[in-house]
Amino acid sequence: MFCGANVENASYGLSICAERTAYVKAASEGERRFRAVAVVTDDGGTPCGACRQFMAEFGLDTVVIVADGRGAYRLTTVAELLPEAFTPANLSSQSPARRRRTKAKQ
Ligand SMILES: [Zn+2]
Repeated sequence: MFCGANVENASYGLSICAERTAYVKAASEGERRFRAVAVVTDDGGTPCGACRQFMAEFGLDTVVIVADGRGAYRLTTVAELLPEAFTPANLSSQSPARRRRTKAKQ
């Protein structure tokens, strides 16, 4: 298990959310696939868009446990949080997304 926390920076754009902190810690230890990630906030907030995109890189089927400070929780997945995610597959010259972009330019 890898834990993360929000790491704030005086230059706000350089701050990093707890989700990405935990993923980076795990990745630096060689982990690349995750069964589940728990996100706990006072109000049961879900991961921000940047974190959803970051998490998608490591698996759309990863279970996301969203919990609040009172112990209530619900289960979802990265794919549910980020439908039609941009993934490494989109970087392939044969990817459907790239074909659509290429076709749109014609
Ligand atoms: Zn975030």
